[in-house]
Amino acid sequence: MKTPKKNLRGGRPLWADSPRIAIRCRSRLAQERCDVVVVGAGISGALVALKLAEQGHDVVVVDRRAPCRGSTLASTAMIQFELDTTLSDLADKIGAARAERAYSRSFRSVRALGDLIARLGVSCGWKERNALYLAGTENGWRALEAEADYRAKIGLPSTFLDGSSLKSGFGIARTGAILSEGAAEANPVQLATACLRAARRLGARVYAPHNIRQAYPHAQGVDLETEEGATISARRAIFTTGYEVVSGVPRAKFDITSTWAIATRPLAAASLWPARCLIWEASDPYLYLRTTYDNRILAGGEDSGLQDNERRDAAISNKAHRLLHKIEDLLPGRRLQIDYAWAGAFADSPTGLPHMSPVEGLANCFAVLGCGGNGITFSVIAADVVAAWVAGRTDRDADLFC
Ligand SMILES: Cc1cc2nc3c(=O)[nH]c(=O)nc-3n(C[C@H](O)[C@H](O)[C@H](O)COP(=O)(O)OP(=O)(O)OC[C@H]3O[C@@H](n4cnc5c(N)ncnc54)[C@H](O)[C@@H]3O)c2cc1C
Repeated sequence: MKTPKKNLRGGRPLWADSPRIAIRCRSRLAQERCDVVVVGAGISGALVALKLAEQGHDVVVVDRRAPCRGSTLASTAMIQFELDTTLSDLADKIGAARAERAYSRSFRSVRALGDLIARLGVSCGWKERNALYLAGTENGWRALEAEADYRAKIGLPSTFLDGSSLKSGFGIARTGAILSEGAAEANPVQLATACLRAARRLGARVYAPHNIRQAYPHAQGVDLETEEGATISARRAIFTTGYEVVSGVPRAKFDITSTWAIATRPLAAASLWPARCLIWEASDPYLYLRTTYDNRILAGGEDSGLQDNERRDAAISNKAHRLLHKIEDLLPGRRLQIDYAWAGAFADSPTGLPHMSPVEGLANCFAVLGCGGNGITFSVIAADVVAAWVAGRTDRDADLFC
């Protein structure tokens, strides 16, 4: 069993300076025993651990870094049901019925996350937003109009805006866009640490930093061994190790690429756009942007197949300025200054869907890998899929993700 250690991000992510993102961890570990051990304490591990703890399982979470210091710290946290692959394209790739199920499940999962946050009373910058998907180089207005009709037909809250409505409503000059309800934004690190704290209140133990280097499955469960020789014995192990993907997840399922993001200095609230919807575009590479509670513009994109981390991080300044110029082109008349700029690893899959399944060759182990721009929505789904698997059931949509 291997989860190759990667440099998951570079530069200075906005969330690193947030309040309430530290979490007390146990550092001494010799031998532990539990029902389920969750390897990886990012947003996926946090949601999985909380779900399992709420269902009465005795849970241990272990991370080789401090919790939420992997990709979750780099995330721009636009939380959407719309996938990187449009519903129409996904239907071509995996069949209409499956594509419709994937979109509907994503839609319900964003809602479920909002409900969870309300139930926990977590303060994590959660705001429901509309999302505006602009016509671009990959899909023009005709394709977006057809896409909006298709989504509306299956009950998703998407409507098409033509170029003149877009201009008058948002001041954006494009040939058309899809406006969707049902999206949200958050501070992903405050969200994940709050879930870990809630899991801990239910008895979960969080250990860090401890690197799991080996798994030994057996008839009753699995023993995990740390680099220092400690062991965690569990009935089941869940690998929510993000883009440090556990071996056993087929390589054909994903590519690890690079992406960049910036946060501007705070602006006057009046100079942001109407209703502060999330904005993204049907282009490759695409630009996406949102606002923050303190009136910054948070934007990302410029994705490339670059896999060399040093070159990825060396490109931060250049990519940050390209992102800034793209925002200024899209939303002219604002004076923007970069305050934070960073880069991160990112997983891409041929369909944009994540991977969640038992690990090949490792009995009693399950792996979660959130691909594409919807990693957080997929983490919510992963918590359900994992909970069903641990209970010996199969989530009704599990077939979409394996
Ligand atoms: C720049 C950027 C922008 C993004 N924007 C968005 C967005 O707007 N919306 C969205 O939904 N998603 C977005 N994503 C994707 C989303 O952030 C990720 O899908 C999500 O954070 C992954 O969370 P995770 O918990 O799976 O992984 P991580 O946060 O990386 O957590 C995995 C943890 O596993 C630990 N680990 C790995 N191997 C071991 C081991 N052997 N032993 C112990 N611990 C181990 C790591 O230390 C790490 O802490 C973005 C990603 C990036 C990089």
